[in-house]
Amino acid sequence: MKPVLYIVIPCYNEQEVLPITSVQFEEKVHSLIEKGKISDKSKVLFVNDGSKDKTWNIIKDLSERSDVFEGICLSRNRGHQNAVLAGLMEAKDLCDITISIDCDGQDDINAMDEMVDKYLEGYEVVYGVRSKRDTDTFFKRFTAESFYKIMNFMGAEVVFNHADYRLISKRVLQEFANFHEVNLFLRGMIPLVGFKSTSVYYERHERLAGQSHYPLSKMLSLAFDGITSLSVKPIRFITGFGVLVALLSFIGVLYSLISKLFGHTVDGWASMTCILCFVSGVQLISLGVIGEYVGKIYLETKQRPRFIIAERTYQEKNS
Ligand code: UDP
Ligand code: MG
Repeated sequence: MKPVLYIVIPCYNEQEVLPITSVQFEEKVHSLIEKGKISDKSKVLFVNDGSKDKTWNIIKDLSERSDVFEGICLSRNRGHQNAVLAGLMEAKDLCDITISIDCDGQDDINAMDEMVDKYLEGYEVVYGVRSKRDTDTFFKRFTAESFYKIMNFMGAEVVFNHADYRLISKRVLQEFANFHEVNLFLRGMIPLVGFKSTSVYYERHERLAGQSHYPLSKMLSLAFDGITSLSVKPIRFITGFGVLVALLSFIGVLYSLISKLFGHTVDGWASMTCILCFVSGVQLISLGVIGEYVGKIYLETKQRPRFIIAERTYQEKNS
């Protein structure tokens, strides 16, 4: 049986670019079907993320014109990550594999052939990785690459230069559905699910039309969401900083006591300095300790699965 592929595409105010790229997606699906790699029931699933322009009308027209196109419309704008998730969750019961990709033509759709090949070789997740960023401006490239470096430094493991262009199998999506968290950072969460994964490389193009919805401010907030939803490292930094301040305070206390002994001080200075040093050190360490517990509570509230079984040597009872 050939796998049914759903290409999941989030769209937000994309009326300029959709008429151009939808044709390319359609051709891609047809060519993959012709090459015998995927089932002829494969489709392109658009997710309209509460667009304020004609995007949803275009999607409806497309789905009337061709069987390849389907669409879902979110009740309001929920942001890129939520839109992708909505599409993936919708698709998971209808297909065997999904590929998520932006609708602006920036990611090379020809990488899909290799992605599907990798799936057929037995990989469950295939990450699309940008091999170079020549077409991005220096500023975009610099901020984007710093983004990945800072993320990894802060303990949120992400595949370098991989955005949300990836193939995910139905199997992984079914397990991923058990991750109930509200703060989404898909590219950091999918690796948590595990299973066999690999990467394919492609060149990133310029946007075909329309404008980017990811200005620096949104990128920063995505990075912040990513770090805080995947890692409690920032809390550790506070604890570490607290210990450092406590050590310095200890030296400060010694210094003020010695100064007092040698009589170089005015009345009250040594006691004030001692109290100040002591309290500031204790305060920061305490904050760090409380933070550790808050961090634990935070991770508990996500109720992520504690393990996922990939294979058994025996048949499961209910299957
Ligand atoms: N997008 C979305 N909801 C939003 C913002 C963006 O669904 O609130 C979609 C958008 O239509 C596009 C993808 O997410 O398909 C990536 O957005 P964009 O190309 O603007 O980001 P960039 O590639 O510049 O980082
Ligand atoms: Mg884009």
